[in-house]
Amino acid sequence: MDFSLSDEERAIRDTARSFIRKEVEPLEQEVLRRQLRHEPGLDLAELRELQLKARKFGFWGLSTPEEYGGMNLSAVLQSLIWTEVGRTFVPFRFGGEADNILYFATDEQKKEFLVPTIEGDRISCFAITEPGAGSDAANIKFAARPDGDDWILSGEKTFITNGNDADFAIVVAVTDKEKGVRGGGTTAFLVDRSMGWRSEFISTMGEGGPASLIFEDVRVPSRNILGEIGQGFELGMRWIGKGRYIIPSHALGIAERALQMAIQQANTRETFGRPIGTNQAIQWMIADSETELEAARWLILRAAWTVDQGEDPRHSSSMAKLYGAGMVNRVVDRVMQIHGGMGYTKELPIERWYRQVRLFRIFEGTDEMQRLIISRDLLRGYTQIGGNLA
Ligand SMILES: Cc1cc2nc3c(=O)[nH]c(=O)nc-3n(C[C@H](O)[C@H](O)[C@H](O)COP(=O)(O)OP(=O)(O)OC[C@H]3O[C@@H](n4cnc5c(N)ncnc54)[C@H](O)[C@@H]3O)c2cc1C
Repeated sequence: MDFSLSDEERAIRDTARSFIRKEVEPLEQEVLRRQLRHEPGLDLAELRELQLKARKFGFWGLSTPEEYGGMNLSAVLQSLIWTEVGRTFVPFRFGGEADNILYFATDEQKKEFLVPTIEGDRISCFAITEPGAGSDAANIKFAARPDGDDWILSGEKTFITNGNDADFAIVVAVTDKEKGVRGGGTTAFLVDRSMGWRSEFISTMGEGGPASLIFEDVRVPSRNILGEIGQGFELGMRWIGKGRYIIPSHALGIAERALQMAIQQANTRETFGRPIGTNQAIQWMIADSETELEAARWLILRAAWTVDQGEDPRHSSSMAKLYGAGMVNRVVDRVMQIHGGMGYTKELPIERWYRQVRLFRIFEGTDEMQRLIISRDLLRGYTQIGGNLA
């Protein structure tokens, strides 16, 4: 058994780390100042400029195939890099990415949707959640009915990330009620905003916010079907599956940075004539955080490794998402406690993380849905205790 990184993995991870330290972290104080003015940490133009700078360092399209100009990195390397991204609270991510399911597009659609998304010229959003169907995604009602060579789309999607900025939406709609959502009765459509849908911003406790998408008899040509008719739900689950190891990888970086701050604080803040880190109460918070962080690291890397092996990653990804999301919430809470009153102010990033990471337990499958998947797999004998070592 070998828990070390290869030289190549280490070199790529270290280059990403040095880019973030040199080019992104210096913006942190400005991000905190903007937060006080209720402005986004980075606007879209600034994000793009940073992404183009990263492109010059060779960082472009972590998951994008080489034929589209990307790096086509292994899932393990993508995970390691997302952890580096998480170490800064500047809302940065590397560019050159597109939704994984856009690769199911036809050649025509690739030119119109996939390539401009990778290049950052168009913004996409993915919409499956509805006011009446979140965890129970199989209960969607958003409908598409055929009309000649077109389809007419009606309904509402909600909580859609990028929904207010997107130029086009990937929307999962019911196309055959009889077959049902799991029986091939749904289809994914690529729908330009100019075809007639509108969005309404939803204010949340985090920076920015998702949006509701409202479709009132929006006419969409058949050539805008993504994948096959009847494949919508399957594509939706593939889209969600990707995030299940990326979200905890990001969480891990946040937890690492926050814990580092707590250690510094514990060594320098004095009460009753000695550093607070000399108290067992503080030491235990640090010890528990490091232990949970390390446990999350290996669950996440195991999930990413499973993806790279071409095996079904759902069970290991659900464990990584469940544990990683909970871990970062517990760590940030302890780090705030160790900082006392200062931790609660907007002069430090801790309260910002505290609000941000709460989402990790909700979106792309709540804690409860991850538990449902993990236990269902075991109860029906699809997986066994001990995984691939069993
Ligand atoms: C900021 C943000 C961004 C998002 N981005 C997107 C996006 O880009 N695209 C998209 O399609 N969706 C997106 N979502 C939607 C997100 O995936 C859903 O909010 C999530 O799946 C939960 O669904 P819900 O909100 O309807 O909660 P519900 O499904 O109503 O669940 C409410 C509570 O009940 C629990 N629960 C439900 N069923 C069970 C059960 N059987 N057993 C035990 N507990 C259960 C849930 O875990 C949860 O705690 C986003 C949400 C947010 C907040």
